[in-house]
Amino acid sequence: MTQQLLSLRADLVGVFGDPVDENPTGIMQEAAFAAAGLNWRYLLLRVSAEDLSSAIAGIRAMRFRGINLTIPHKVSVLKYLNEVAPDAALIGAVNTVRRAANRLIGENTDGKGFLRSVREDAGVDPAGKRIVFLGAGGAARAMSVELALAGASHITIVNRTRSRGEELVRTLNQRTPAKAEFVQWVGDYPVPPEAEILVNATSIGLYPNEGDKPRVMMATIGPDLLVCDVIPNPPRTAFLTAAAGRGARTLDGLGMLVYQGAIAFKLWTGLQPSIPVMRQALEKVFRS
Ligand code: NDP
Repeated sequence: MTQQLLSLRADLVGVFGDPVDENPTGIMQEAAFAAAGLNWRYLLLRVSAEDLSSAIAGIRAMRFRGINLTIPHKVSVLKYLNEVAPDAALIGAVNTVRRAANRLIGENTDGKGFLRSVREDAGVDPAGKRIVFLGAGGAARAMSVELALAGASHITIVNRTRSRGEELVRTLNQRTPAKAEFVQWVGDYPVPPEAEILVNATSIGLYPNEGDKPRVMMATIGPDLLVCDVIPNPPRTAFLTAAAGRGARTLDGLGMLVYQGAIAFKLWTGLQPSIPVMRQALEKVFRS
């Protein structure tokens, strides 16, 4: 009978980004690894745009199990991958890579994390719903594509910059079953009465200054609307507070952040992490 040798070598994952010092994902992932009894480490790795190619070679050389990508790598990483999941290809960006033997496979868990938060935290099925997104950046692309693939019937993209908004609407109309339209964001946006979900997918609210809210005609928000914010910290943004004041149900960006990490955990380890452990780890770091 052969004796099993004790391995003290940890499995490695992490995030490539620049800047990366304040990225909270490692805290949440390491808490989940510990809770699952896994000897895994999550490293915050500062990788500049020009060093991405060498850093990707390092994933293979050092046998990382996978990696997250954040600014500025979510789009530029595509050319280094062996395979890209169909939804990530539609989104045009990858935030999670998993290594299977020597193949690197790109995924995007941001929009799936939002979809799961809408379903599980808000208890709403987006199938057949009319949804308005404020913004057309990376987060809006990921979220709108996943909600369209999950059966949302109509998507309105409201954006300041026309070209970015129109390009996203083209993708949604041509590549998903949803019907999409673009509205240029000028002044206070009036939410159409038939909208059922409104999402702030811009970075407005990240710095909680006085009046730091997306420009929306608040009188058009009422109790029939679910209002969501992509900003995870502070979870209760000025926008969500104002929407709740109008009687709307609200959903903060913390759930999306937890679930996008939980989906990456599952892709890397094959296991379901503890959602409460991940959420509590993030809440603790955001409070400190
Ligand atoms: P991008 O830079 O790709 O896009 C930003 C979007 O916000 C653009 O549509 C931009 O419009 C719009 N915008 C920014 N400032 C204003 C303004 N003053 N008025 C009107 N529109 C504005 O960023 P991302 O999409 O990657 O990220 C957006 C936010 O989502 C960030 O705060 C990020 O932290 C958060 N996020 C949260 C996640 C979570 O898990 N909770 C996951 C991923 C992101 P324009 O095109 O006109 O410039």
